Amino acid sequence: MTTHAETPLAGSAHSWNTRAVHAGKDDLAALGLHAPPIDLSTTYPSYDVVGEAERLDEFAAGHDDGGPPVYGRVANPTVRRFENALAELEGAEAAVAFASGMAALSACLLAQVAAGKPEVVGIRPMYGTTDHLLESGLLGNTVRWVTPDEAASAITDRTGLVVVESPANPTLTEVDLRALADACGTAPLLVDNTFATPVLQRPLTLGASLVLHSATKYLGGHGDVMGGVIACSEEFARSLRQVRFMTGAMLHPMAGYELLRGLATLPVRVRAASATAAELARRLAQHPRVTRVHYPSVGGAMVSFETSADPVALVSAVRLITPAVSLGSVDSLIQHPASLTHRIMDEVARKDAGISPDLVRLSVGLEDAEDLWQDLTTALTHAAR
Ligand SMILES: *Cc1c(COP(=O)(O)O)cnc(C)c1O
Repeated sequence: MTTHAETPLAGSAHSWNTRAVHAGKDDLAALGLHAPPIDLSTTYPSYDVVGEAERLDEFAAGHDDGGPPVYGRVANPTVRRFENALAELEGAEAAVAFASGMAALSACLLAQVAAGKPEVVGIRPMYGTTDHLLESGLLGNTVRWVTPDEAASAITDRTGLVVVESPANPTLTEVDLRALADACGTAPLLVDNTFATPVLQRPLTLGASLVLHSATKYLGGHGDVMGGVIACSEEFARSLRQVRFMTGAMLHPMAGYELLRGLATLPVRVRAASATAAELARRLAQHPRVTRVHYPSVGGAMVSFETSADPVALVSAVRLITPAVSLGSVDSLIQHPASLTHRIMDEVARKDAGISPDLVRLSVGLEDAEDLWQDLTTALTHAAR
């Protein structure tokens, strides 16, 4: 199977796979370096006070000239490397990184509310806390929940964001992003691409305006770094940098380093875990205690399934797989959305979003498929009711 990952990247002599390894690091050899340096500075020396004041004004307006950042909340050279690499891999003009995925989403909401566009059009299901943030109106937004077909009629000139996840958490429901982008017109379509990653799907090429990642998941890939990032136009990036400058949810430089390192192995990790996930999805579909399997057409390392066994007992009975929230690590994780990640949703909304109480969500890692299958089938037997 050839995917867009093997074809040359626009504006580059090399393929997407090659750029995943080298993006954000092209200047290293000329600097006499191999691994990217980690800049932990919170402040930067300045002997030209007038010049520095002018640069700070530019930074406060959301511009980033790539020079010394004045202060660590404004920008950071290590974080910039990750931002530049992710922007390139998503085919974006720019990317802005935050301390978590939720901080990245919050910045988008704050930017749009401040611009007089507080209305959000949301398509369920989505990540439980995203749903909760939009529904709460905490940041001054309103939300209208629609199906993809209803999106066009819900958009007004005060719509700041149309928010969708595809494949969606936790049902792995897919939305036709190109059709949705057309329906949005000039309203910005934000696609949470956490599950597919740019290896399998690049929403900006399908007409989206903003791509969100919880970098905590596949981009980091090892369950040891929190981060979030928005890939978008340079114009939107300026609003996001302004918000980040004022509200402070900057990505830590160590996290920037780890996320840049994660990008280099993203294609191999996602392809290997996806192959295992597809195999497990095939086997689960044949299992007598599995009533329904959800696996996306774009592929990916997430599998959800509904079981006639007790889903809570099942999640507690695994031994190799870890019962835990989160996803996208090198090791496999399993959880019960109705009791954990999507517990925060109203019960009726959860049911409407297709999140059955029998649904179990599996994040497939890099273990051997046979070992995972053994663990799952043993747990399914223990959890029979
Ligand atoms: C985890 C997650 C988020 C939130 O990201 P954090 O890094 O935990 O703040 C948003 N969307 C999706 C799809 C996620 O899986």
